[in-house]
Amino acid sequence: MGFFDKLKAGLAKTKDAFVERINDLFRAFVEVDEDMMDELEEILITADVGVEATEMILDELRDRIAVNYITDPRVAREELFAIMRSMIGEGAPIAEEKGKMTVILVIGVNGVGKTTSIAKIANVMKKKRKKVVLAAADTFRAAAIDQLEVWADRVGVEIIRHTEGSDPAAVVFDAAAAAKKREADVLIIDTAGRLHNKKNLMAELAKINRVIERELPDAVRETLLVLDATTGQNALIQAKEFKNAAEITGLVLTKLDGTAKGGIVISIKQMLGIPVKFIGVGEKMDDLEEFDARDFVSALFE
Ligand code: GDP
Ligand code: MG
Repeated sequence: MGFFDKLKAGLAKTKDAFVERINDLFRAFVEVDEDMMDELEEILITADVGVEATEMILDELRDRIAVNYITDPRVAREELFAIMRSMIGEGAPIAEEKGKMTVILVIGVNGVGKTTSIAKIANVMKKKRKKVVLAAADTFRAAAIDQLEVWADRVGVEIIRHTEGSDPAAVVFDAAAAAKKREADVLIIDTAGRLHNKKNLMAELAKINRVIERELPDAVRETLLVLDATTGQNALIQAKEFKNAAEITGLVLTKLDGTAKGGIVISIKQMLGIPVKFIGVGEKMDDLEEFDARDFVSALFE
């Protein structure tokens, strides 16, 4: 099964609960009216598009309906989908520059899917014939280190690890040295999600960033925030907190297969001003790919 089919299967729940409901709604009305708009609002909110984004979508739709004298619900529906498509925007590839290493720092709270996503990203990079090194800088639990190691073996990439409780910045230091020595193309750094307050988080990320800047001054940098799509609007709140602590360059949205409320994908870029770079639609190695907005839109709306 290709990724597009996986994407379609993964988005099936969201599609049923969201797009199909919209289709039913626009079929049920003969003419566009306020009742229809009210029901549309409810569908968008239920799918976790978010209150603010829902208002933006509805305002834009009302404008288009007024300007173009739209009365046919089917025409209005096409306008609605066009608005959502433009909100999703374009995906953004992982930054890379010829002859330079890309360092990807992966952050996010516990359980969102950081470690799994790192394995999957490593797999994507490896398929592009890039040499990948992983850094197990979530040193809080031994199990977290072991988990990354299992994945590293499965994908077939090198991992730099220390023991439980060691300094994450020291792991990054060693990983940077190893990546330089092996002339790696990509270094991906796993981090702990346990950092319960902003001050801790900022201090730890700053320390890691200083090591990267010192050891790999020419590297191209990415800081990816991983968000669990099943947590809906909570993911947005998490993102706003992390945004205050780090310069996030991209989002990884995981577990889209596990939710009927995938509406967050439509609004998240608009709400945060950060592009989605990867989406995860399952637990296996091949269940993540670089976010292709066009594929995503056709998997969801067509
Ligand atoms: P971390 O604590 O952020 O490192 O999260 P993990 O990578 O350990 O993942 C937590 C759980 O989420 C694991 O059971 C993963 O298999 C699961 N998971 C991660 N990504 C996805 C996804 O895209 N879909 C599904 N269904 N499960 C996922
Ligand atoms: Mg982890």
